[in-house]
Amino acid sequence: MKVAIYARVSTEQQIENYSISLQKERMRAFCSSKGWNDITEYVDGGYSGSNLNRPALRRLEKDIRAKKVDAVVVYRLDRLSRSQRDTLYLIEEMFLPNGIEFISISETIDTSTPFGRAMIGIMSIFAQLERETITERLRSGRLKMVKDEGLWAGGADASPYGYTRLARGELVINEKERDHIVRIFEEYVLLKSYIKVQKKLKREGFPELRPQRITALLKNRLYIGEVSFAGEWFKGAHEPIISTELFNEAQRVNEHFKGYNFGKIKNNVFRQKVVCGCCKENYVVYGANSKLANGDKVTYYYMICRRRKMPRYYDSKCHNRTIKRSDLEDEVFARIQNLEKSSMKKLLIESEKSNTERSMLQKYIKNGIPNLWECNLDTQTAIVDLFIDKIIVQEDGIQVIWSQ
Ligand SMILES: [Zn+2]
Repeated sequence: MKVAIYARVSTEQQIENYSISLQKERMRAFCSSKGWNDITEYVDGGYSGSNLNRPALRRLEKDIRAKKVDAVVVYRLDRLSRSQRDTLYLIEEMFLPNGIEFISISETIDTSTPFGRAMIGIMSIFAQLERETITERLRSGRLKMVKDEGLWAGGADASPYGYTRLARGELVINEKERDHIVRIFEEYVLLKSYIKVQKKLKREGFPELRPQRITALLKNRLYIGEVSFAGEWFKGAHEPIISTELFNEAQRVNEHFKGYNFGKIKNNVFRQKVVCGCCKENYVVYGANSKLANGDKVTYYYMICRRRKMPRYYDSKCHNRTIKRSDLEDEVFARIQNLEKSSMKKLLIESEKSNTERSMLQKYIKNGIPNLWECNLDTQTAIVDLFIDKIIVQEDGIQVIWSQ
């Protein structure tokens, strides 16, 4: 039987009755009463039990995994850890799966006996209950703060753009950021494009925000003086930055704008990019009107090989398939979204991109590619242009030729 005895004192306890020598003495006495003689000591002197980041404990874990230990003995459970959660983690995830017998002398916990194992089970249940009660209490406390007091329930040490968060979630306006937000709303309802807003405000000396961030900002009701909890909005205690009229106008523009994504011919995201795998001709967009059951008219957009759509310009007809543009978007966007950072870096190093494109790439390598489905047409087009050379429509799928 290879036995590990684990002892710990924190700095404050070093002189008190938990001394290392006392712990070791008791544990050794226990071991000899069991007839265990192969003993290794693991001692953390001057470490707190509030986390598991202790050198001797780390070494013990390593030795357990290396099967160098059969049993672990501690003087008291709190020597192992002061957190019940960590204690259970060690017992349930480390000791039991590795067939380690675990003994805490003071509590008479001995996992080599059925009673000891039952105790662990009971402790687990109470620990679980405690965790859930804490979560629920925190939740209802936070809801009360938001709903009754209008406080901001975001991260404890983060401030939302435009404000500075005080101790309990009170928000005071950050003048510089406020100006930026006001300019974003004002320009957006005029220019109707995040990219244009971005360009204009950059010239005015404002910091650059990611398109995603601008989208989120324009929809954030925090700026009209509301606070949210779990998706619900309540009257906030802070001073609004944007008038409700301007906010609603921005929502209207955004809604209208979004419409383009569902297929006005204006959508040029894939222009000159999609080619036929059979005859090498370009794929072109066409719209087909359709009437819904409620009488509303909708237009669906498709892409088709030009030789198939307009055979009179050619000496032969093509029979390659027609694709729904939204399906193509989904497929291509997903592939762009899944691009590895390494391939972006390669593109950055090897390609002869323009300065704008290089800085876009650097941004995407750093922050990831924005959610393409939420981007406006300008951004979508720029990103597709940046990464994709051609999209070839085959009979059974599409092939993307990445730019290089
Ligand atoms: Zn074709």
